[in-house]
Amino acid sequence: ADIFGAERKNSKGLNMNIISESEPFFAALDTFKDTRWSAGPLVNGDTLTGDTIEVLSPYDTTQVVGSVAFADSHAIEHALASAHGAFGSWCATPVEVRANALQKLADLLEEHREELIVLCTREAGKSIQDGIDEVREAVDFCRYYAVQAKKMMAKPELLPGPTGELNELFLQGRGVFVCISPWNFPLAIFLGQVAAALAAGNTVVAKPAEQTSIIGYRAVQLAHQAGIPKEVLQFLPGTGASVGATITADERIGGVCFTGSTVTAKRINLTLAQREGAIIPLIAETGGQNAMVVDSTSQPEQVVNDVVSSSFTSAGQRCSALRVLFLQEDIADRVIDVLKGAMNELTIGDPNSVKTDVGPVIDATAKANLNAHIDHIKQVGRLINQLELPTGTENGHFVAPIAVEIDSIKVLEKEHFGPILHVIRYKAADLPKVIDEINSTGFGLTLGIHSRNESHALALADKVNVGNVYINRNQIGAVVGVQPFGGQGLSGTGPKAGGPHYLTRFVTEKTRTNNI
Ligand code: GLU
Repeated sequence: ADIFGAERKNSKGLNMNIISESEPFFAALDTFKDTRWSAGPLVNGDTLTGDTIEVLSPYDTTQVVGSVAFADSHAIEHALASAHGAFGSWCATPVEVRANALQKLADLLEEHREELIVLCTREAGKSIQDGIDEVREAVDFCRYYAVQAKKMMAKPELLPGPTGELNELFLQGRGVFVCISPWNFPLAIFLGQVAAALAAGNTVVAKPAEQTSIIGYRAVQLAHQAGIPKEVLQFLPGTGASVGATITADERIGGVCFTGSTVTAKRINLTLAQREGAIIPLIAETGGQNAMVVDSTSQPEQVVNDVVSSSFTSAGQRCSALRVLFLQEDIADRVIDVLKGAMNELTIGDPNSVKTDVGPVIDATAKANLNAHIDHIKQVGRLINQLELPTGTENGHFVAPIAVEIDSIKVLEKEHFGPILHVIRYKAADLPKVIDEINSTGFGLTLGIHSRNESHALALADKVNVGNVYINRNQIGAVVGVQPFGGQGLSGTGPKAGGPHYLTRFVTEKTRTNNI
């Protein structure tokens, strides 16, 4: 059954278990195995050159993916000036035209699916399954916001008034939207932000995470091909400290959409407050200290299945990933036992192999920070299981999945963005304390609950301050239009990506009272 009604369907993706689908798919992936991409700033559609860095694969740094030129001050100024100049006509372009371009972009993403998946594995170190899901989500975002924008913006809303007076409420774009996206969803979140901003009538200056510039570059080329005018969508690869800091300080911008760390979101907020120009919104989706609470009515095997997928998929590099597993004392030993065994079944290695469950982390800095935390937490806590890195992973940024028992969430001073699971036992009578501990982190992104007692599960869901609750399943992989994604508190400002209210923050409202 079509749960979305006639207006829109989520994309189908690909089932690797169906040979007739997977054989041509793998053959197509193979055609890109020797490709070397080169990318740079796209200003009015022209690729600019500049200081170029070599892009190496996170799973094997002897493999060159391609090269990227970072934007210099000249590129930044031209991109901002052009996007600013193009706003009036894009904002006045009928929403149907804007939406059609995004629908076309979704089609082009599907056409170029194999190249984009190869880039996800090679530039971002994602598994093939993650790459498939990434393209699907990007496609879904484009189609979803196209439909939402038409619903919200095709006609003004008529409001009541005295006889003879016509009251209308219009929504329109805010200006130049700066979109700053993370490396962990280099296509889906990159394009989700851009598609939302464009659908709502904004022009865009997009800065990808510096680790995944090539994927962003290809996505913008496809957007231009789909009919998004080149002045309307500008692309500026570079670091946050140079490009990010400059574009967010510019007085010509009308809003910022950011996904990344809480610290950076706060820094952007400060920059926006201190710059000249209008007071403009920041939409931020940031980190989490996500918990799962498991009570003694749960099924250990199902729990472990969902724990492993929530903690170790994408090498734990999802904002939604499970970091702290709370196990009710009576069931803890059994769950931990099954967990040890399930972890031993994980295959670590080259993300281009379909057998791989856990690929690399993004770069050497991430690896060093995660390993430092692992050294520390093994001292503070009690080791449950730590996998060995297999041979063949020496040239990559691999971190071995680990589970450690700790006494309190308070020993985790921050989010650790990798395959590290912390486990805490609790007594049934102490559940209120567990809730307080989770809420006391200030983060509020995802919560997993395992219980066969529905009223208990629902009460818990109610009391923990998070954006996304998942009962008796894993807590990653939010689907566009199904689980709108985003948190509260230190985890972000909302509104939720892939949800019916997302576009509201990308528009400004205007009423017109007409007494002619
Ligand atoms: N939406 C993703 C999920 O549900 C996480 C997004 C992120 O990591 O920023 O797994």
